[in-house]
Amino acid sequence: VPHRHPLESPLLERHRAVLPSWMALYYDEPIEIVRASGRRVTDGDGRTYLDFFAGILTNAIGYDVAEISDAVRSQLDTGVLHTSTLYLIRKQVELAERIAELSGIPDAKVFFTNSGTEANETALMLATQYRRSNQILTLRNSYHGRAFGTVGITGNRGWSASSLSPVKVGYVHGGYRYRGPFAGLDDAGYIDACTEDLRDVLRTSTSGDVAAFIAEPIQGVGGFSTPPDGMLGAFKEVLDEHGILLISDEVQTGWGRTGEHFWGIDAHGVTPDVMTFAKGLGNGLAIGGVVARGDIMDCLGANSISTFGGNPVATAGAQATLDYVLDHDLQGNAAKQGATLMAGLRDIQSRHDLVGDVRGKGLMIGIELVRPGGDEPDPAAAGRVLEETKARGLLIGKGGLYGNVLRLAPPMTLTSEEVTEALGILGESIAAV
Ligand code: PMP
Repeated sequence: VPHRHPLESPLLERHRAVLPSWMALYYDEPIEIVRASGRRVTDGDGRTYLDFFAGILTNAIGYDVAEISDAVRSQLDTGVLHTSTLYLIRKQVELAERIAELSGIPDAKVFFTNSGTEANETALMLATQYRRSNQILTLRNSYHGRAFGTVGITGNRGWSASSLSPVKVGYVHGGYRYRGPFAGLDDAGYIDACTEDLRDVLRTSTSGDVAAFIAEPIQGVGGFSTPPDGMLGAFKEVLDEHGILLISDEVQTGWGRTGEHFWGIDAHGVTPDVMTFAKGLGNGLAIGGVVARGDIMDCLGANSISTFGGNPVATAGAQATLDYVLDHDLQGNAAKQGATLMAGLRDIQSRHDLVGDVRGKGLMIGIELVRPGGDEPDPAAAGRVLEETKARGLLIGKGGLYGNVLRLAPPMTLTSEEVTEALGILGESIAAV
C-alpha cells in the first residue's frame, strides 16, 4: 500500500497524477536515486545510503561496476543497441550456452525475456502446452509476477491484484513456515505435513492431470520465507508419480545469492524440469528467461519470439555480470557475509521482543516483526523501522503476507565493514521503534 504524506515533493505529485494508483512506493517521502557506486546510492538531495535491498535484488554486484559498464559500452560503440531477435545474436547464444550448462538440467535450452514476469508467463505457456492441462499448483503466499497468468499463480493476497486467472490454480502449504497449521514442527515433520498437503490438494482440488508445480525456493515478496532443505525434493517424488513438471522460480534466489548454492532449488537435492530467472542476471539491465529441458522448450507448434528478449546490450551486461559473479566467488562472499549478518541479527532478536523470527540464507534475510508479548504481525512497526533505517542512511526492503517482514538483500559484493555498519543501524532502528 503506497504511503500517503502531506509533504509531497513535486515529483511525487507528478508521479501520482500520471502513474497508476497501485504502484507501491516506499517511505513517507519517497526518494529519487540519481547516482550510485558500489553498494551506495545517492538521492536528489545529495543524501547517500547503504543499499541493502539492491533495487529489489536487481543489482547482484552493485553499482557502477567497471567490467559491466565496459561490456555494455563496447556493445553501444558498435551502434547496435538492438535490431531484431529474428537475426543471430552471438552474445545471446553464448549466454544461453552458459546458463544451460549452469542449470544442471539435461539437454537444456534457454529462452530470454525482459523480466521475471515474462519468464514465468513463458514457463506457464510451456508447461500447460506440454502437459495439455491448464492446472497449476503453487505454494501459498507465493509471488510469481504481475501479468495475467502469473498474477493467477500469486497467492500472496497483497499482490494478487486480479482474480481473473486463465489457469486453474491449487495452493499448497510449505512456503511460509513461521505461521500456519504446521508452524512449530521440526524439519522432517514439516516436510511430511506439507508433502501430505500436496497429495491432498492433488486429490481434492484437481482432476489429477496437473501441468506443473511452481515454487520459489525462498519466497521473496512473501518475506524471505524459507522452507526446510529437501522439501521440494520430497514434493518432486509426488509430482513424478503424476508426470507433473517442477518449475523453480529462481528470480530472487538465483546466481549464488543464497550462499550455499548457485540456485535456490539446489538446497532441495533435486533438478527441476524448468527454471525461471531475471533480476540479478543483468545487474540492473532488463533481462530474464526460462531454462528448460529441450523437449519441454520445443513443445510449441507455432512460431514465437520476444522482440527485445536477449538483445545485444542486455546479454552483454548479463555475460559480464555472470563473469563477475563466478570470477569473484560472490556466492562464497554471500555465504560469508550472510553468516555474520545472520549472527548479528539473532543477537538483535535476543534483545528485542519486536523481532519474532530471523530467517533466510546467504544474502537473503528476513526479519519478521511481531507485537511484543505475542506473535501477532506488526506491519506498522516494519514501516517505522524502514523510516528509522532510512534516516540513518540504510535502505532495506519490506514484505511478507502481513507487510511485517524486513528484507535484507544487499549486493553480493558486500564487505565486512558494510555488514558491521548495517547491523549498527538496524540495531539502533529496531531499538528506536
Ligand atoms: N518471481 C519472483 C520470485 C519475483 O520476486 C518477481 C519480482 N519481484 C517476479 C517473479 C517478477 O519479476 P519482474 O518484476 O521482473 O516481472
